[in-house]
Amino acid sequence: MTADAWESARDLLSDNGRCVVACHINPDADALGSALALGLALRSRGREVVVSFGTDDPAWHVPDALAFLPGHDLLAEPSTVLSGPTPALVVTTDTGSADRLGPLLPLLERADAVLVVDHHATNTRFGTVNLIDITAASTTVVVAQLVHGLADLDADIATCLYAGLVTDTGSFRFAATTPDVHRLAAELLEAGADPVAVGRELFDTATFAGVKLLGTAVARACLEDGVIWTSVGYEERTRLGLPIASIEGVIDVIRTAAEVDVAVVCKGVAPGQWSVSMRSRGATDVGAVAVALGGGGHKLAAGFTAHVATPEEAVALVRAQLP
Ligand code: 5GP
Ligand code: MN
Repeated sequence: MTADAWESARDLLSDNGRCVVACHINPDADALGSALALGLALRSRGREVVVSFGTDDPAWHVPDALAFLPGHDLLAEPSTVLSGPTPALVVTTDTGSADRLGPLLPLLERADAVLVVDHHATNTRFGTVNLIDITAASTTVVVAQLVHGLADLDADIATCLYAGLVTDTGSFRFAATTPDVHRLAAELLEAGADPVAVGRELFDTATFAGVKLLGTAVARACLEDGVIWTSVGYEERTRLGLPIASIEGVIDVIRTAAEVDVAVVCKGVAPGQWSVSMRSRGATDVGAVAVALGGGGHKLAAGFTAHVATPEEAVALVRAQLP
């Protein structure tokens, strides 16, 4: 990342005019935590700012596990944002490509400038300014550096940043967990982030129906040709009234099978549409597999959307890309 990109990013953020901070569809804690932290920082400077994201669930709502994040009053649903005033600036967080904005995609055309803040190596650099640090453990690491020049690090901003950091490092276990990551975590705790409360909300809370569905998905996992995979169908999930976010934990269980390097979970988003999550235990670049299939991500964690009837077909797409 060049000093130029930092300077241009800081210039765009310290300007005036309406700003929309948008993150990827069905956001995780890194995407939404980054967006809300930036939103809170910009608002504290008196800038007009809204934060938004799309979901694949029919009724727009903040995912239950992220409802604890501060800054709710900054949030607006995509239809409201799209019918609102033209923004001077759109900032995207943790969003590897423009299509990942889902319903918010038309915003990019309208804004005077687009600032892309991300850490995905596969980022397509769709901004006017692209602040992409592929060495950063999370997008909130990049946002933390932006916040330093913009606002005081209060407990609310720290909580948003910590949520992204603890999520994307797998609770400080994954490869990008450096001494600097722990130093940032310390700074965020000192500023008031509560690791017990954040951890409980993000990782240790589900519904009974969600726990049962996790068990069902794990029970029918298959281990075939170097891949462990399972699926949760759209009908199966929605019959239980469960949102797409309720099955994000399935991959974290099946990827522990040490017999194979690659784990795949096919998540039914709509009939004939699967959001496919992939994880590698180290030897396979699933990011490259995802890119070849129209998606993106990181070397060891990536995903794409498959428009096929069955999960077997989605897994066949993955297998065809593996050596
Ligand atoms: P997850 O499996 O947790 O949904 O995503 C793992 C990683 O892959 C994340 O970095 C996420 O942003 C990325 N990813 C997941 N699905 C897609 C997709 O459809 N397109 C792109 N570009 N990236 C994806
Ligand atoms: Mn991320």
